[in-house]
Amino acid sequence: EDEKHKYVKGKKLGEGTYANVYLGHLRTDPSHLVAIKKIKVQKEYTEGMAPDAIRELKHLQELSHPNIISLLSVFSSKDQNLNLVLEYLPLGDLEMLIKDIEGVRYGAPDIKAWMGMLCRAIWFCHENFVLHRDIKPNNLLIAADGEVKLADFGLARSFSDPYRLMTSNVITRWYRPPELLFGAKHYSGAVDIWSVGLVFAELVIRTPYIAGDTEVHQVSLICQAVGTPTEEVWPGVSSLPEYTVPDPPNPVRGKDHYLATFGTAGQEGVDLLMSMLVLDPRKRITAREALQHAWWASEPKPTRKEDLPRKK
Ligand code: ADP
Repeated sequence: EDEKHKYVKGKKLGEGTYANVYLGHLRTDPSHLVAIKKIKVQKEYTEGMAPDAIRELKHLQELSHPNIISLLSVFSSKDQNLNLVLEYLPLGDLEMLIKDIEGVRYGAPDIKAWMGMLCRAIWFCHENFVLHRDIKPNNLLIAADGEVKLADFGLARSFSDPYRLMTSNVITRWYRPPELLFGAKHYSGAVDIWSVGLVFAELVIRTPYIAGDTEVHQVSLICQAVGTPTEEVWPGVSSLPEYTVPDPPNPVRGKDHYLATFGTAGQEGVDLLMSMLVLDPRKRITAREALQHAWWASEPKPTRKEDLPRKK
C-alpha cells in the first residue's frame, strides 16, 4: 500500500506501554502534523497478525466524531510493526489537569463540559457497536479548540457479535468494572460506563477514587466504596468464574454517602454518578440514557469549550 509513503516520520514524542509515538507530517503538506503510533508487537504474534489487526482497525477509521481522536491511516512497516497515524494533539490529557501539573484550576462547569464530551464519545462508540474498554483520564486528550478526545482504541473491538467470547483481562485495574474483575466472558457497553463513572468521580475529587494495588484489592475497595456485589443486588453474580468478595458484605451506598464526597457535582450530578456506578451491569445507566440525564440542563451550565482551562 501507499499509505506509509503519505506520511513522513519525525522525532519521537513519547513512549507508552505498548507503543512508541512519533511526530509526523503529511508528505505533500509539512504543516499538516500527525502523531504516528508504532505498536510494539510481541514476537509470537507477528506471524500474520498485522493484517488481522489492520482489518480490525480499519473500521475504527470510519468512527468520525468530534470527541474521538481521528485515526487517519493504518499501515504495517517492513518489520511487521503496526503504525497508526493519528490526529496530533499536543496539549496533554485530563490526567495532567487532574494532577494539577500545570497549576490549572477547574470547577463544576468545566467538569460538566468534559463529562459531556466523554459521554457523547462513548454514546457514539456504542451506537456503532464499538467498546472502548480502556477509558481513563490519560486516554482523554485535549485538542487546541478545547475538545476532549477519546484516544487509545488499542483494546477497542467490535462487539457486534454478542456471543463472541471476549477476554476479561482488559481495562486498567482502577477503572475496571466488577463484572470484568469477576471474569465475565460476555459483557457489554456497561463496562465503559463504569470507567466513565470513575473518571467523573476523579475529576471531582482530583485523585483516583478506587485505586487497588491488585485485582483482589480492587474488588475489596469496590465493596467499601460502592457496596458488595451479592445475589440480592445482582442476580447471577455469584456464578461468575472468579467471584469472591470479602465477608461480611457491605450494603450498597446511598445518596448521602455520595453527596458527602461528591457534593460539588450537585444533586443531579451525584445522581448521574451513582447510576454509572451501579454494580449489576444490566442495571447500570447506558450512554444514551446518560445523555438524557437532568444534570446537563441543571445549573451550572457546562463551560463553552473555548473557555475551558488548559495548560499554557
Ligand atoms: P501512554 O498512554 O502510556 O502515555 P501512548 O502510547 O498513548 O502511551 O503515548 C505515549 C506518549 O506519546 C504520550 O504520553 C504523549 O506524550 C504522546 N502522544 C500520544 N498520542 C499523541 C497524539 N495523538 N498527539 C500528540 N502526542 C501524543
